[in-house]
Amino acid sequence: MPSLKILQSITHKKLISVSISNKKTVQNVYFATMQFKDIAGQLSVKKHLIHTVTQNRVSHAQLFLGPEGSGSLALAIAYAQYICCTHKLPDDACGQCASCNKYQKLIHPDLHFSFPFFAKDKDDVASNYIADWRHAIIKNHYLGLDAWRYHLNVDNKQFNINIAESHHIISRLSLKPFEAEFKIMIMWLPEYLVSAGNALLKIIEEPADKTLFLLVAQNQDQLLNTIISRTQIVKIPKLSDTDVVNFLTIQKNIATNKAQQIAYLSNGNLHTAQEYMAHEENNYCETFITWMRYCVQNRGIEMINYVDELAKMGRENQKNFFKYGINLMREAVLCLSDMPALVHLPEKELDFISKFAKILTLAKAQSIATEFEKAHYHIERNANPKILFLDVSLMLIKLLKFNTFPAGTQHILI
Ligand SMILES: [Zn+2]
Repeated sequence: MPSLKILQSITHKKLISVSISNKKTVQNVYFATMQFKDIAGQLSVKKHLIHTVTQNRVSHAQLFLGPEGSGSLALAIAYAQYICCTHKLPDDACGQCASCNKYQKLIHPDLHFSFPFFAKDKDDVASNYIADWRHAIIKNHYLGLDAWRYHLNVDNKQFNINIAESHHIISRLSLKPFEAEFKIMIMWLPEYLVSAGNALLKIIEEPADKTLFLLVAQNQDQLLNTIISRTQIVKIPKLSDTDVVNFLTIQKNIATNKAQQIAYLSNGNLHTAQEYMAHEENNYCETFITWMRYCVQNRGIEMINYVDELAKMGRENQKNFFKYGINLMREAVLCLSDMPALVHLPEKELDFISKFAKILTLAKAQSIATEFEKAHYHIERNANPKILFLDVSLMLIKLLKFNTFPAGTQHILI
């Protein structure tokens, strides 16, 4: 039987799945370390959070505000684990005490989660989906909402944190802590509380003794002001390319040059970075260049055949592909704005963009990016991919009309 320490070292690279047989099914129990040391970058945030604990200044309601893929949810969990750890180290939880052991499986009885979900009826609550939630978070600490929807297999359903869930939170937090000094509620994406949020205001403002509320949000503008005013904000910045590269090379064993490419294209979002990694076999660069070539040269039949191929990519892949295209257009804008020094794309993409930019104008590059953003939105909402790709292709042909190219550049992509 390997020791806990060895198990923990393995979990840096991959999840360990332990099968436990029960009467009818085999259930997978997942472990993953989610201590501060496992979370990419964010050194000053970690330092601040540890300081609040060592100085005994843990605010009872905190709002972790950071973009998708910044690690804000993982930081909230690591913070909660640190607070409850019985053998705290100066800069992290011990990872070995009984409390840490339960935290690593996200099954500590004083750790509560709330998150957006699709309510099957008015009494449905988040804890009905807690097994899926644990699985999704342990699999990917940088989970995004799209991936959560995908995980629950409810792509285009309305997600929210409903009134039943608000009442359920209140009743759960009215209990005394079972084991730890604090009971901690981590609410992911309180933006989805909408009107139901008001039921929670009192408990956020005047929580029961030894109760902590950690809200993890992405968009301050979409939060209820009454919630913002009752919480202490912890700002989590977007990760730097260096942080992403370090994470991918050290924790995911990715080669440095590949990690640099992924880091750049994912724009500080570790969720997107891992999506790129998962779909590495899909060569977005090659696919994108081929597609653009057919559109630029207005090769109708080949373009229609190619649309059939693009439509088979699968929804998540298609969304990533459009995100990839948006990033490339951002580079084209930099090229066209005489800021080539800012362009630090991988070699193949750089070669393509420097050629492609010659047949674009600033307005055209921006219009194409807008078309890709719209396409991403529609794919997310279950649009028919074949119709969508055809539609975008026709729009691109229109935007990239031959007669508006600078003289002598029509052949540039041939
Ligand atoms: Zn511990």
